[in-house]
Amino acid sequence: MTEKKQATRAKTLDPFWKCLECGTTIQAATPPEICPSCNQRCAFKDVSCYTPDCGGPGHIDPQL
Ligand SMILES: [Zn+2]
Repeated sequence: MTEKKQATRAKTLDPFWKCLECGTTIQAATPPEICPSCNQRCAFKDVSCYTPDCGGPGHIDPQL
């Protein structure tokens, strides 16, 4: 007897990262080491929305 287990992959939305140098935003699980816009190591800030005010997960918080 084999029990078929279906792997249910939860839909996780990656956070948004904003480059503090050029302001470009990237959606990824982790901030990129090299900014694709600046082509150098930039500081990235998590600007993803965590409240329903700005649309909830999957959106960028406009106040950040
Ligand atoms: Zn940049």
